[in-house]
Formats: sequence, C-alpha cells, structure tokens
Amino acid sequence: MKILFATSEASPLIKTGGLADVSGALPVALRDIHVDCRLLLPGYPSVLGTLHDIVEVARFPSLPLGFEGRLLMGTLPRESVPVYVLQLPAAFGRAGGPYQNSQGIDHEDNAWRFACLSKVAALLASDQSPIEWRPDILHCNDWQTGLAPAYLHFMGRPVPSVMTVHNLAFQGVFPPDTLAMAGLPPECFAVEGAEYFGSVSFLKAGLYYADRLTTVSPSYAQEIQREPLGMGLQGLLHTRRADLTGIVNGINTGEWNPASDLHTARSYNAKALTGKKLCKLELQKELGLNPERNTPLFGFIARMTHQKGLDLVLECAADLVARGAQLAMLGTGDRALEHAVRDMAMRHPGQVACYVGYDEGLSHRIEAGCDFFLMPSRFEPCGLNQLYSLRYGTVPIVHATGGLRDTVEDGVTGFQIDAPTRPALWGAIERALALYADQAGWLQMIHAGMKLDLSWEQSARQYEAVYRDLLKARDPQ
Ligand code: ADP
Repeated sequence: MKILFATSEASPLIKTGGLADVSGALPVALRDIHVDCRLLLPGYPSVLGTLHDIVEVARFPSLPLGFEGRLLMGTLPRESVPVYVLQLPAAFGRAGGPYQNSQGIDHEDNAWRFACLSKVAALLASDQSPIEWRPDILHCNDWQTGLAPAYLHFMGRPVPSVMTVHNLAFQGVFPPDTLAMAGLPPECFAVEGAEYFGSVSFLKAGLYYADRLTTVSPSYAQEIQREPLGMGLQGLLHTRRADLTGIVNGINTGEWNPASDLHTARSYNAKALTGKKLCKLELQKELGLNPERNTPLFGFIARMTHQKGLDLVLECAADLVARGAQLAMLGTGDRALEHAVRDMAMRHPGQVACYVGYDEGLSHRIEAGCDFFLMPSRFEPCGLNQLYSLRYGTVPIVHATGGLRDTVEDGVTGFQIDAPTRPALWGAIERALALYADQAGWLQMIHAGMKLDLSWEQSARQYEAVYRDLLKARDPQ
C-alpha cells in the first residue's frame, strides 16, 4: 500500500507543534509495518538544510498565480522515509516561521502558499503526476493541505483521500476570491463545498471533499461534533460521523526515552528511578530553583495560549508556593501570558522558574526532572506532553478533554479534572500532593504510567486499518 502523507511540518525538519511530531513519526511507524508512506513538505530553509541526499525529480510549471515549483526528493535524517519537497522560494524560502513572520503576524499570502502545496499533493496523486511513484491514498493534515481533497474531487477523484484534523481551532479561512486564485471552480464556493460563513475555509474543504476523516483521539472525535469544540464545523462533522475515526497519537519512543535521553543529565527507567532524582536536582539548578530533592516539583510546557490553561496554572502558583512546592514553566506565545509567567517567577525566586522561548532540550529535562506535569488545557485534540510525562514517571494532572481524557486514567496513571477551572485544578493538586506524601501509592502511580505502551505501532495499525477499509470500499473486489 502506498500513501502520500502531505503535511506542512515534520519533526525534526520543521516544527511548531504536535502536527510535526505526528508527521515525523507516523510515516516511520507505517513503513515499519510495510506501508510505503512518503512525505510531502514545503521547502522551508530548515527542511532543505536538514534533509539528506536531495535531488530534483520534477517540475510543476503552473502552480496557482502561474508560479513554477520544483519537486525535490530526499530522506528523513536517521530514518529511511522518502520525502518530497516542494521548492518554491517565493512561498517558502523566507525568514520567520512557517505561517508567521518574525513579528508573529500571519504571512499575508498564506492562502497562495498552501494552495500551491495542496495542488502539488493532488497532482502527485493523479494521472498528471510528473513522477512514476503514485500513491493509492492521499493523506492530508490540517488546513494547510485542506484544499488537496478539493483539487482531487475536481480531477475526478483519481485516488481517495484521508483528512486528519490535528487541531480544529486552525481552519485556514480566507476571502472568497481565494478559490479563483487557487484555480478551483466557482461551484466549490458552496455550503456543500469550501464555503464557510461567507469565506473560504481550507480545512472545511478537506473535511467536505476527503473520503475519510480522522482526528487524534476518540474523545476529540466526539467533541468536535458539538458546540463549542466543533468551532463552526460541528454540523459537517456530525453529518460525516460514519467516516470519522479518532486515533490517539503515539510518541517517538526513541527520542523520548528516559533510559537513553540525550538531553538529560542522568538516565533512568521504571525499575531504577535514582536517575530521575538526579535529573530533578540538575533541573532545579539549571532553572535557579532551590535544589531540594523532597520538594514536589510541578512542570508546565506548552504554547502559551488561552487553550493551554496557563492562566489556571498561574492562579494556583502562589498557593503551590505556600504549600512548599515548586513550579517550572517553559513556553512561548501570547505576550501577556509570557509577561505574567515572568512576573510570577520574579515574585517567587527559588520556587517558581520559567524559560520563555522554545527549547527542545529543556522540555526533555523538565519532563525528566519534575514530579508532576500540569496540563489543564481547555481543549486538547490529543496532546503529547501528558504522554511524555507518563513515560518519564512524571504524574500528569490533566483536564478530562480530548486526548487527555483518553490517555490519563484518573487515580491510576495520573489525575483528571472535570472542568478547566481554578478550584478543580487546585483540588487535583491537593490530591496529587497527598499521594506524593504516600511513598508506596506514589511509586505505584509512576510505575503504572511508565509501563504503558505509547509507541506509534498501535496507532500506525489503526491508520492502516482506515486505509484498507477505504480501499476496500472503493474497490470491493
Ligand atoms: P500543540 O500541538 O497544541 O502545541 P501538543 O501537546 O500536541 O500541543 O504538542 C506540543 C509539542 O511541542 C510537544 O512536543 C511539546 O513538548 C512541544 N513544545 C511546546 N512548546 C515548547 C517550548 N517552548 N519548548 C520546547 N518544546 C515545546
């Protein structure tokens, strides 16, 4: 089975969030179970600079607005996953992030940039492909590749497509004339199409035209069929519920392994936890926290946005300090939240610490060095940090939503709160602190989390089942 996995980010080439983790790992896991999965990515400077063995394999002379793109091919470092790259310097060869400039403002031509990516994805899956390798299925991810199923539809559906939602909050909404720019026919601008409250939504196009839909946890698959998490698309998603599957993400167990983590001072495993205590002391020293081995240490890592419930963590911070606990926070995002975090750290030196910025190594050291991990997200399609926490013996405290509900078992592997509120979070923190004082119960919970199988293999098998089902439905022979 051949799958073209079209995505706008993939770790370790380019990453802003969980989509990159999935795109970097799922294709590897699929290949391990003999699915010929290949990636398609935009040619950002970091992608071109990191890929191995890049060669040009084709040209696309007429992308939206008449641009010519080049198709390069390379392989993921350390893995044997073939990666196709759309090299289009006018779209992707620029400074800043993949979607925003260095001031944090969306690139104003995002509609064109990702229409080009979507168009190339569809072309590669069609009879017009300039290369020999042809996928059986086109697998699209989030709004950046959402137009691809629409292109495929208007090409006569040469192959079926799967659309995966990693976060419904990002929908790629643009003015109505976007479709003409993208070269899609006017009938695409309809409720039964890409139209979304008078605008065009790339994600809606994907959700409407793709043959199958998936999202990154069973609970999130249910939640997005209703208000408020459907975010305007609940009607369409409810109508298509028979085609919608929730599959929890795995984690990269090579990269995220406390027994061989390259970023931490000491290694450890479920049977020998001494290294974890040393990681805690090292982390306390690194962040300027008082190096006290018996003080409960809470961690938080996330994009600093309203979604992640950082405001609730901050509301609990002073009480945490009063109870003698410590808090380590890592993230970047909203300026006001960044400011509030720095302010909190300044008011409680030695007890609260933060690093405002993006730091992969520190994120590993926080996972390894903390006793608890706070994740009171208002919504969370899957979430990765609670999975890393489980693997690192760092008890997660989560809001029972989306993937957090599906992966953390209350009282067994962590703690759940039933609402994203301060009293609920504080209640769970109290429960956690009580457990911390009970050495045997505490160790039991750590072990229960550390022994879970969080690898991609199980998830890859579920995706494979979706693919097989789709091909069977299309060709019952
Ligand atoms: P989302 O995709 O909504 O950002 P996820 O929990 O699915 O949330 O994935 C977030 C990923 O990004 C995790 O791998 C997390 O460790 C990482 N991450 C987020 N912020 C930072 C940061 N400031 N420094 C390092 N890693 C970060």
